Amino acid sequence: MADTAILNELLNRIAPSHRQAFRSDYEAIRQLPGAATDLQKFLDDFLEHCHRLYAATAGAIWFRGPNDGPLSLKSSVGFERLGMNNGHEHAHLELLGYAMSQNKAFVVKPFSAPASDSGVANPTDSFVVVAPIEDGGKQLGIVELYLGPTPRRGKTVDERNCYAMWLDHLVRYLCQGVELRFLGSAAPLQPALVNLAATKAEIEGYKEAIRRSLEVTLNNYVGMSFGSLRNNQTFMRGVHELLEENGLRIACAECGAPSILRCQSAGNSKTGVFLYDHYLETGRTFHGGPSTFPRVRLVPKPPRRRSV
Ligand SMILES: [Zn+2]
Repeated sequence: MADTAILNELLNRIAPSHRQAFRSDYEAIRQLPGAATDLQKFLDDFLEHCHRLYAATAGAIWFRGPNDGPLSLKSSVGFERLGMNNGHEHAHLELLGYAMSQNKAFVVKPFSAPASDSGVANPTDSFVVVAPIEDGGKQLGIVELYLGPTPRRGKTVDERNCYAMWLDHLVRYLCQGVELRFLGSAAPLQPALVNLAATKAEIEGYKEAIRRSLEVTLNNYVGMSFGSLRNNQTFMRGVHELLEENGLRIACAECGAPSILRCQSAGNSKTGVFLYDHYLETGRTFHGGPSTFPRVRLVPKPPRRRSV
């Protein structure tokens, strides 16, 4: 059965008032692999959402030790309520061992065997859904969810089988999350890179706002002179400092190249002329020469020139 078909089947059997919560827990599980959490937090979150989806009384995630070592408990909810510590641990571990040899999830009735020839049994009075965690042909561990003696979800055999298939689907997200964390390193790289990219986009937005704001400020002075060469030079130094701090340059009005706008004495102009000082392929070049402050367009400062 396709994943969406299973989802619809499960939603149909849930009271309409609970469907939204079911959908949000499912959506949360889909987002978990990419969340910026470490392995432990990821497993705890995964189990918590599954626990709610299944209206489970208890649940656990087990991982096999290195080199096919024994299973160890990685995350659990409500496990103490199962009464497993009254000599049932062994039977329970045998059931998990059997689950490790399976390639899909299954349901076990209270105090019953999963199959007639399995030789193992569910030692609790609860229905339990057990799913092997298989990733790329490798058995990593087990997820188990206890539905209670009279399940709130999974009231019929059909419905419980549906929930078993659904757990196989959810385990794929568990595998994704584990791959991104446990099999790599402690810190999940992929989500971190996504966060960096998002932050970079945000910073670009701020930069653009600064660029536009400075452009508006400078263009208030179009057509003006500050009365003397010295005043004009003082103004231009201030402008350049501000642009430098923000990684900006003024686009040359003639060729468009990023430039530093300077005011220099020239011929008979008392207040000097404004020149675009820039490096072109031919070397350091000056363009322009209006006697008043020109309309400017701001552009990013180019990378530092390499000395040849
Ligand atoms: Zn130019």
